[in-house]
Amino acid sequence: MSDAELVLRSTRVITPGGTRAASVAVAGGTIAAVLPYDAPVPAGAHLEDLGDDALLPGLVDTHVHVNDPGRTEWEGFWTATRAAAAGGITTLIDMPLNSLPPTTDVGRLRTKQRVAADKAHIDVGFWGGALPDNVTDLRPLHEAGVFGFKAFLSPSGVDEFPHLGPEQLARSLAEIAAFDGLLIVHAEDPRHLAAAPQHGGPKYADFLASRPRDAEDAAIAHLVELAKRQGARVHVLHLSSSDALPVIAAAKADGVRVTVETCPHYLTLTAEEVPDGASEFKCCPPIREAANQDLLWQALADGTVDCVVTDHSPSTADLKTDDFSTAWGGISSLQLSLPAVWTEARGRGHGLEDVVRWMAARTARLAGLDARKGAIAPGRDADFAVLDPERSFTVDPAALQHRNRVTAYAGRTLYGVVKSTWLRGQRIVADGEFTEPKGRLLTRSP
Ligand SMILES: [Zn+2]
Repeated sequence: MSDAELVLRSTRVITPGGTRAASVAVAGGTIAAVLPYDAPVPAGAHLEDLGDDALLPGLVDTHVHVNDPGRTEWEGFWTATRAAAAGGITTLIDMPLNSLPPTTDVGRLRTKQRVAADKAHIDVGFWGGALPDNVTDLRPLHEAGVFGFKAFLSPSGVDEFPHLGPEQLARSLAEIAAFDGLLIVHAEDPRHLAAAPQHGGPKYADFLASRPRDAEDAAIAHLVELAKRQGARVHVLHLSSSDALPVIAAAKADGVRVTVETCPHYLTLTAEEVPDGASEFKCCPPIREAANQDLLWQALADGTVDCVVTDHSPSTADLKTDDFSTAWGGISSLQLSLPAVWTEARGRGHGLEDVVRWMAARTARLAGLDARKGAIAPGRDADFAVLDPERSFTVDPAALQHRNRVTAYAGRTLYGVVKSTWLRGQRIVADGEFTEPKGRLLTRSP
């Protein structure tokens, strides 16, 4: 360890083998060793003694809508990555839509990379998009380093990102399977949505009825069947309907290559408590009932659901009207996802190890970044979040780094204060003070 430049010491280091008192030695921006707590500090190395604050791997959020360029008034790389850093996230993967252009061919990927390059406070990678008319762009995008491809099975909310019909889905998935890529899917079936009552207006119960569970269940069953037939890798985005869990569990048991994510809002907010007209709670699929939420937690615990990601998808405040049918759908939570999930997790008897598994290890694996990210282990990037898990705070929107501070979490009391965040051995934010951007652009490991 003689070349270590930094040692982080804590009584609670969250490692893949459990929580323990340890000293983490960092050399060249990489974790060199996880040593006993009282290991001697090498000459010339700086000791950062964290006391009883928990040392977590930096979180990896694989579902973020940065919207930059093109809808930068909604969010942007500068603000999104600062908010993420403030929330203990050190890697994000940007969704291919809501920016203009969307990330649907290599030229557009280059545009987005150029825009992100000098604004990224954390590491940033990109998903590509699968549209009805870009099948021939998928392989070049894969080779250019996108982490996989997003598709919608129902309208996406923006005209420039149309959804795939059943034939188009089969064709795109076959193309992606040919290079063993990953298709990530917004799974709601448009026929079920069309058949649901569409009342519009400010009542949350009406909005919930307009996005029924069976729309998710049908789309997921279809996707899983297709993945099985093609031997393809698929990922279900933002699972909300617990009714889909048996199909997913059976598919996994059957060896189908399917993974599933859910989001902080499905795990911490319930339909019963959403005030009418409060479209800061609007997202698709919607936040459902408390009983549904209990089953999602059970599925996280038993591994049917793999991971937790924000689906941070903000807009300007004027698009968050009090009519649920026309308000922009998307919940902002980049800076709050760790405390939100931790608060509910601890109440349900889970440990920080579980939260780290769901929000760092599994998301890193989903993106194929697990050789570099998502764990405190030798050889990984020295990305960390320092958390006081017992301290609570009340969410004040004014304290958020998001470009638009509309949030469903306003006024909530959450446990878990992120005291500092580290990227490759450098502290990038501490107590609200940021360094200049030090993030890098990531591409899929070949
Ligand atoms: Zn999304």
